[in-house]
Amino acid sequence: MSEKNEVKALQEQLSIHNDHFLKHHDSELAAADAFCDGYKAFLQAAKTERECNKAVIEKAKANGFVPFDPFASYKPGDKVYYDNRGKSVILCVIGKKSVAEGVKIVASHIDSPRLDMKPTPLYEDTEMAYFKTHYYGGIRKYQWAAIPLSLHGVFVKKDGTVVNVRLGEDKGDPQFVVTDLLPHLAKEQSKRTLSEGIKGEELNLVIGSRPFKSDEGSELVKLQILKLLCDKYGIDETDFMSAELEAVPAFEVRDIGFDRSLIGGYGHDDRVCAYPAMEALLTLDVPEHTCLTVLADKEEIGSDGNTGLNSSFMKYFIEDLADMQGVKARHVLHNSDCLSADVTAAFDPTFPQVYDKTNTSFVNHGVSIAKYTGARGKGGASDANAEYVGKIRAILDNANVHWQIGEMGKVDEGGGGTVALYIANLDVNVVDLGVPVLSMHAPFEVVAKTDVYSTFKACEAFYRS
Ligand code: MN
Ligand code: MN
Repeated sequence: MSEKNEVKALQEQLSIHNDHFLKHHDSELAAADAFCDGYKAFLQAAKTERECNKAVIEKAKANGFVPFDPFASYKPGDKVYYDNRGKSVILCVIGKKSVAEGVKIVASHIDSPRLDMKPTPLYEDTEMAYFKTHYYGGIRKYQWAAIPLSLHGVFVKKDGTVVNVRLGEDKGDPQFVVTDLLPHLAKEQSKRTLSEGIKGEELNLVIGSRPFKSDEGSELVKLQILKLLCDKYGIDETDFMSAELEAVPAFEVRDIGFDRSLIGGYGHDDRVCAYPAMEALLTLDVPEHTCLTVLADKEEIGSDGNTGLNSSFMKYFIEDLADMQGVKARHVLHNSDCLSADVTAAFDPTFPQVYDKTNTSFVNHGVSIAKYTGARGKGGASDANAEYVGKIRAILDNANVHWQIGEMGKVDEGGGGTVALYIANLDVNVVDLGVPVLSMHAPFEVVAKTDVYSTFKACEAFYRS
């Protein structure tokens, strides 16, 4: 062997290979693109946690899932779903083995950053009508002005009637917008820091400008809006108090690039992991272990609340499974494995300074494992055990999944968290894994199709392991 060949052989044998998907998986490209057609349709149709919950349950029902009954007993291959208040959902396929041997969980979240309406949002100023908003999750506020927004959510009336709202998505629908200053008059505003470019109380949604026709009274533009809302939805101003209205970007999901290799859209974080997790579960017939897809709400604001994973809804579901099979829930939890499937930051060549290039995730390099998240000295992280990471990488390699490993960014540059720590706190093995995203939390985020597909393959391999 020549010296050059020896070096090459040794490098091949001993080094990490972090390559483009196409270097090793060219034959799977058509499958990856086809998978993403399904994902794009899901992303377009389901822009809020409620809409995701609904879309997932509809798809599950069509695939033979029935509502979970804690007093029933199930046999291997049975498929059930648990709807947690219309905002989070668990899909479950019962396995051959006792749950005492542990269950396989893939957990993702279906809420995304957005602008929520305040409890009494409607006001008039200078013959214009607005909604006051309160942003939800970690947004860069300046990105949310001067873009088309749609309204999604519910009014719940005192008699319990739920009135659904989805306005601004269909062709011909009106849309909504937060205005920004013109550059000609932005001399002072331009001196603000980027984080203050648009302030929280400036995120006011334009909703109308024509007054109710009358010579009497004041605030007639507001009155005219209330009249329109009453005609359309049968609500009055008090019904806003028990409403959840969310303004989200009205952009269509589109292919990005001449080669159509990327997908641009709102809310990839974290539907881009939720969808592959669900699709992977739907491929199961009668799995060895009982398998769960847990799609949670509230991750973007810290997972607190009864639809978030810092509540007990998943634990209680597993307790019910354990009771059914006559085993202790804590033994099930202790033996269970989880993938916390959530997005990570993709290396952005335009902003290389925030990434450690030797420990980052690259677009098209596959699903990315994050051994730990958190900030500073791993604060707020669930740092997965080496033993468990070893187990997961073997599963991925054995199934020929294209994967990589990375951190969110440079040490002390910032950081982030996922649901992983809440699941780890239940005594479950858990590691983070997911799709690298460009412009994360922006109104229009970008992912690579091959990474979405690799995430699906990873979830599938995990469930079948
Ligand atoms: Mn996320
Ligand atoms: Mn997020």
